[in-house]
Order: sequence, then structure tokens, then C-alpha cells
Amino acid sequence: MSVEAWVREFARLVTAEAPRLTELDSAIGDADHGANLSRGLNAVVSALDTSSFPDDGALLKKVGMVLVSTVGGASGPLYGTFFLRAAGALGDGFPAAFRAGVDGVAARGKSTTGEKTMLDALVPAAEALAAGKDWAAVVDAAETGRDATIPLVARKGRASYLGERSAGHLDPGAASATLLVTAAATTLG
Ligand code: ADP
Ligand code: MG
Ligand code: MG
Repeated sequence: MSVEAWVREFARLVTAEAPRLTELDSAIGDADHGANLSRGLNAVVSALDTSSFPDDGALLKKVGMVLVSTVGGASGPLYGTFFLRAAGALGDGFPAAFRAGVDGVAARGKSTTGEKTMLDALVPAAEALAAGKDWAAVVDAAETGRDATIPLVARKGRASYLGERSAGHLDPGAASATLLVTAAATTLG
């Protein structure tokens, strides 16, 4: 399967889960994560529908640029950077591209694991991919990392403004990042 199918499946899942993502963001943020991401991914799908690309790297680069330019919140530049960096590393294979994307998020967000962000789902998935685990294990790693954000105190992004009150809630970005991994498993697996 293709990376285009991966991106389209991510868009489909985010659109389906947008109310849930926004509900999660209403607890510890500003209740726009689902709306932000579905708006950006709708624009991505339109771009895919109306353009053709010389290769998968060019396609992922376009995805990143559309997300950066259409998503207002923190998640737009972060997911945009993910796809831009992944685009540049695709020649080294999917695990390397995914890793490069995750490293890009960490650099752009000045963030690391344990800070209650999307990285808590992305990093374990990247590590499982690098270790050659099967897709079920990769999805499991993302889901486990996502669920482990619940007790954490947020150190980055809007949720960090709440301090200790951010604990006890699942991070919305970790939930959307798990959809990115799930989409990869169903389209690339
Ligand atoms: P905003 O917070 O600007 O409204 P969103 O609601 O779309 O943006 O996205 C919030 C999500 O972005 C958080 O749940 C978190 O996972 C992620 N996030 C925020 N800041 C960072 C950061 N510095 N590094 C990594 N992820 C981050
Ligand atoms: Mg928000
Ligand atoms: Mg916002």
C-alpha cells in the first residue's frame, strides 16, 4: 500500500474521531484539537485529490506544508513538521522516515516523552518500528503510550498552564498521534 493511502486513512480516522479529540482538549486545553486537525486534513485530502506528485516524498512534503498553513493551533506546525521531516527520510524506508518525523516534532516542540504530548504515543511507536516489531505491536506501543499520559502533569502546550490539574486526563495529541499509527498499520501493514 502507499503513503497516500496512509495519509487518507489518517484523515478519515481524525474526521470520525474529531468530536472525541475536541472533548479531550476541552478538559485540559481549548476544545479545538479535533476541529484543528480535521480542518487541516480536509485541506490535505483536497490537495491530494487535485494534484499529482512525482514520488511519495513529494506527496508527504505537500501534506506537511498544507498542515502548517491550515492548522492554527500547536498541532499544525507539529504534524506539519512530522510530515516534512518524514518526507526527507522516506528513501531510507518507512521506520526511518517515521523516526525522522518524530524527531522533528521533538525539535519543533522542544519536547520529549513524559511531558504529556503526542510524543508519548509517537516515540514508543517509532521504537517498535525500529525494532522490527509487527504492526499490532507498533499500534499497541502507541496505545500504551497514549494511555500512560492520563496520570502525567503536562509540561508543554496549553495543558501545561493547568499545572497539577492537567493530571487525570488523556492528552488529545497523544490520541490523534495514535490514529496516525493505526492508519499506518491498516494501510502499510
Ligand atoms: P492548541 O493547544 O494550540 O489549541 P491543539 O489543541 O490542536 O493546539 O493541539 C494540542 C496538542 O498538541 C496537545 O494535546 C499536545 O499533544 C500537542 N502539543 C502541544 N505542545 C506540544 C509540544 N511542545 N511538543 C509536542 N506536542 C505538543
Ligand atoms: Mg487546543
Ligand atoms: Mg487552540
